[in-house]
Amino acid sequence: MKDCLFCKIIAGDIPSDKVYEDDEIFAFNDISPQAPVHVLIIPKAHIPSAADISAENSAVIMKIFEKAAEIANKKNLDGNFRVVTNSGEKAGQSVHHLHFHLLGGRDFSWPPG
Ligand code: 5GP
Ligand code: ZN
Repeated sequence: MKDCLFCKIIAGDIPSDKVYEDDEIFAFNDISPQAPVHVLIIPKAHIPSAADISAENSAVIMKIFEKAAEIANKKNLDGNFRVVTNSGEKAGQSVHHLHFHLLGGRDFSWPPG
């Protein structure tokens, strides 16, 4: 998708610190990490937000969560991590290409602000 930051990162037009890639998924370190581990895991397909997940495109979501567990385990988070997606401006979404934040390596509070 033209003018989408994360589509440009997937295409390699904007450089990123890649953690994982396959046919359907791309994962890279967040440019402004909020925890010692802060990886963004995204579908290669341009899905704008979690509000746009449907039966037609949801297979990749399962794969993203499988990959989140794999990355968390590889980074020795010992089962302690958070996976979160922000949908819409009020929830803090700033990039309108669906992404899951994998955060770990510190304590987190609940509920989030
Ligand atoms: P959101 O606020 O939409 O939930 O998350 C967007 C995330 O993308 C933020 O955590 C932000 O730091 C990250 N981000 C924004 N621009 C870039 C970029 O150019 N490269 C990388 N690696 N992360 C980015
Ligand atoms: Zn996109």
